[in-house]
Amino acid sequence: MRASVNGVDRGKQERPPKSVKPGTRIADRLLDLVFPQNIYCLCCGDTMESSRVHGICDKCAEKINWLDHDPFRASLEDFAFDHVLSCCVYGFYPRKIMHDLKLHGKPYIARSIGPLMAEKAQMEGGVYTALIPVPCTAAKKKKRGYNQAELLAKYAAKQLGLPVRTDILIKQKETPSMRLSTGEERRNLMQGVFAVDQNACAGLPGADILLVDDVLTTGSTADACALALKAAGVRTVSVLCFASSARAFEPELEH
Ligand SMILES: [Zn+2]
Repeated sequence: MRASVNGVDRGKQERPPKSVKPGTRIADRLLDLVFPQNIYCLCCGDTMESSRVHGICDKCAEKINWLDHDPFRASLEDFAFDHVLSCCVYGFYPRKIMHDLKLHGKPYIARSIGPLMAEKAQMEGGVYTALIPVPCTAAKKKKRGYNQAELLAKYAAKQLGLPVRTDILIKQKETPSMRLSTGEERRNLMQGVFAVDQNACAGLPGADILLVDDVLTTGSTADACALALKAAGVRTVSVLCFASSARAFEPELEH
């Protein structure tokens, strides 16, 4: 399990198919020149073998708590999503990687982590219609320059051979502060944050969706997205994330 997830034996893995868009290929090559993949470990910064595909060296991979079960399984009935696929617990190194991706302007990290998330989905063996990243508001995307969940979904989808739909879910307003709120209060606070674009939801009835986010903490964001998708007819929503908070193991801390 661990060897498969952290990439110890990744050298022989088939590479994901190249994009068919020439412009995208050139952009990827330029990115490779500016940010060479897998030379430096995303966690400790040490150099490592270029054959490693997930950007995490052996020493750091050993310190990450890789998950082989659904961290929300004990509380799934409280949420609108059906299943959680999380690569690891949101500990020290996963937090560093996600902060670098999200807050420190390093979008290229998604090229290493997206395929790792795809591998997690492949290990679980589910069948999905499409990937839908958790959206951010237009203002947030403009400020950051990208939506990290969208990038992760893009690189995961390449490996899974599935479409990414960024036109379905819309974030209409920023997530309100929910510190000290209970699960039920959070659900109320999240009302109206996400919506489905009625012009883009033709294929949703009966669909099985992989909802992609970087990190799952309380589950409130994924719950709100799943509620909106299911109201539009989606059959199942499986959350695919890189890391999930340890809080997921201790429901009492949610209150
Ligand atoms: Zn390392």
